This record gives sequence, C-alpha cells and structure tokens, in this order.
Amino acid sequence: MGDPSAGRIAADHSPSGRKVAASFIPRAEGGLGPQFPPLAPRPTLIGGLDPPPVQGGRIVTSVGDPESPVRRYPPPVTEPTDRRQTPTASAERPQPTQPSARSISPGAEALLMREVPILDLGFVQPIDYMGNDVDVVQAARVSYGPSTRKVHNDRGLLRYLMRHRHTTPFEMCEVKFRCKMPIFVARQWIRHRTANVNEMSLRYTEAPEEFYVPALEDISLQSVDNKQGRQAVTVGDDVRAEVVRLMRANQEETFSIYQRLAGDLGIARELARSVLPVSLYTQWIWKIDLHNLLHFLSLRLDPHAQLEIRAYAEAMASFTRAWVPMCWEAFDDYRRKGLNLSRLEVAALSRILAGVEDEAACVEVGLKGREQREFVGKLAALRATTTARKTAATT
Ligand SMILES: Cc1cc2nc3c(=O)[nH]c(=O)nc-3n(C[C@H](O)[C@H](O)[C@H](O)COP(=O)(O)OP(=O)(O)OC[C@H]3O[C@@H](n4cnc5c(N)ncnc54)[C@H](O)[C@@H]3O)c2cc1C
Repeated sequence: MGDPSAGRIAADHSPSGRKVAASFIPRAEGGLGPQFPPLAPRPTLIGGLDPPPVQGGRIVTSVGDPESPVRRYPPPVTEPTDRRQTPTASAERPQPTQPSARSISPGAEALLMREVPILDLGFVQPIDYMGNDVDVVQAARVSYGPSTRKVHNDRGLLRYLMRHRHTTPFEMCEVKFRCKMPIFVARQWIRHRTANVNEMSLRYTEAPEEFYVPALEDISLQSVDNKQGRQAVTVGDDVRAEVVRLMRANQEETFSIYQRLAGDLGIARELARSVLPVSLYTQWIWKIDLHNLLHFLSLRLDPHAQLEIRAYAEAMASFTRAWVPMCWEAFDDYRRKGLNLSRLEVAALSRILAGVEDEAACVEVGLKGREQREFVGKLAALRATTTARKTAATT
C-alpha cells in the first residue's frame, strides 16, 4: 500500500511463482514500468468519489444544469419501492499480471470487489486485504521462523491466542472496505478510532440526492425500557406510511434549499451543506486491522447496536468469516458467543447450581435492578442452549 508515484519494489518470480529476488522498477509514463502495464481503469464510483469536472479553474456543479455530467444520481424516489432490491454496481478487479508472493485467502478472493447492498442505497465492498489465518500464526511463532506445523496445530494456537487475549498477532492482518452509509450511521461508526478513514467531502463535491428511508418493517416505536432502542411491538401500516411520507417530504425540502444555496445563490458548498439532514448518504474507504475489526464487530453485531449499523457489521462479518475462517471460529467461540460473568453473577450461579431458586440466589448475593435483569437474560440463554441440545439428542 505504498505510494505508486515513488516507484515500486517488484518481486521477480521463478516459474513456480515463488519470490526469488526483488528489483526496483522506476515509474514509466502511463504505467509502473515494463513489468507493470497500466492497470485497467477502475469503474466509476457510485456517489461521486471521483473528482468533479473543472472548467476555467472552477469546479462545475450540476445545480441548475440537468445535463451536467456530475448529475449521475437517480431522481428522487417518489413512490415507495422495495428498496432492498436496489441494484448494485459490482466492480471488476483488474487481473494480476504477475504471480504474487503475497499470502492469499481463497475465501476473501472470492468476495473481493463485490458490493453487498445494505439498507436502501448503501453498500459494503471489500476492496483489499493483507494476510490470512496463517499470517496470524506466523506472527505468533516469529521466533521459530516459517511454520512446518500441521493445520490443526495452527488452529489450536489461534484459539489459544484468542482465549488468552494475546492480540497483537491478529493486528498483522488488515482489510479495506469501501462503504456507503447514512451520515447518522457514519457518526456511530467513526467512533471506532483505530481504523483509517477517508470520507467523501461535500466541500469538493455536490451532495448527491440520496437519503435513507427505512424499510416499512424497520419502523417501530420508541422502546419504553431501553432508551437507545426500538420496541418490538408492530406499528400499523398507516403509521408507517405516514413516517415514510414525512421523511421524504423533509428530505426533498431540505435538498431543494441546499440546491438553492449551493446552486442558484452560489454559496460555498462547505456552508450550504449545513442544511442537509443526517439521513443523507456518505461514502468512505475504511481500513482496519483484524484485531480492531473483531472489536468493532463484537460491539456492532450486538443486539444493543442500532439496527442500521448492524446491517453493515453483518456484511463485514460475512467477509471476515470467509477471509480468516480459523480466526473467526475462535472469535465466535471465545468472544462473540461466549458469556462474561461478573463476580456477583458467578456467586449467584454457584448458589443456583447448589439448588437455590434464581430469585433467591440473586437476593442472597445482592444482584438487583438492571444487573439482575441482565443476569436473568444470561440464565435464559444458557437454559435455551441446554434445551436445544436435549431436543437435538432426542430427534
Ligand atoms: C450500543 C452502543 C451504544 C453507544 N452509545 C453511545 C452514546 O450514547 N454516546 C457516545 O458518545 N458513544 C456511544 N457509543 C460509542 C462507544 O462509547 C465507543 O466510543 C465506541 O463503541 C468505540 O469503542 P472503542 O473506543 O472501544 O473503539 P476504538 O475507538 O476502535 O478503540 C479500540 C480500543 O482501543 C483503545 N483506545 C482507542 N483509542 C484510545 C484512547 N484515545 N485512549 C485509550 N484507549 C484507546 C481502547 O482500548 C479501545 O477499546 C456507543 C457504542 C455502542 C456499541
């Protein structure tokens, strides 16, 4: 991931494809040297990450000019549609011209550059990765040199690392996603400080008329017992339709004000954008190492995370499972599907195992209020697992 303008270290390869030497290839006009013909052009990005056209030293905006090449967004949707059917713009990955000495993950290769549509207009697209399960193992075994051990030993070591929170080997793998999400999702996402991010800027480009409108089934009332959540109770179709109508009306009105400011009045885009709502879509490139990605996923796959960001986390989890299957298995077993118990919970559980009723055990050890409710939830999950095992055994 170096700077291509500075030239490039290229690997020389034997017929077997193994790296045997390295040489420096200066950058040639139109390419990276004879061994590196120009890459096939990347497809145009949806939503305008490519630079806007410039005329006479000024960036041309499309406001007031329906023929402008900048205007490549569909007109506002006025009729409710099945927005989860939004077609995706899959990008084709340029074919490698040289065998690579890099570690490859077959699972990641199969998914690379494929856009996964999320919500009504968003997506997650894995665009690059570095390392695989074996690289994590090699990092842990650095003092021994290249591993000659069998796969089941690698798996055992990975599971040991995960179990004992020996985390740095997981930082040796990285992944890069291109993502498009509503701004309110981006605000939650950006709190994860360990990623590298580059976001589209509404100082340079005109805002696309792309706003999030939730699917009807995702519209719910405010939860009464969870300040940050939605209630499971079904909302009437008429209420849902009204919600969509109000959201669209607000989005259309604010966008027309934005166009008046940035277009007709020529106000700076950096100022005009301040009227736009957080349902507006934005895009970024997001790069993170595997350790911090798993931390992100443990928080954002959790049912406490907002439904919208969870949808993105699920898409990234699918990629991660395919990319580093052994790491994912260990993460699932020890972190995601494991159970943390506090000191009081351990005390209450030991009383329950000794035959004391749940409620009495909680009182005995001093578990109450929200903590008690959370413990009851953990007990229910444990009992559900036991019931499921028994059912499976008898069928
Ligand atoms: C369900 C949910 C509800 C939330 N609600 C709110 C809310 O109401 N308001 C709000 O403001 N936020 C909220 N957050 C965001 C939350 O507080 C965290 O900021 C966010 O989840 C990122 O977590 P993190 O800091 O562990 O991750 P990262 O920023 O990715 O950091 C990963 C780890 O690196 C270490 N680290 C990173 N930076 C530093 C640093 N500067 N100093 C020390 N250690 C560091 C920490 O160990 C950290 O756990 C919520 C998050 C979730 C999942």
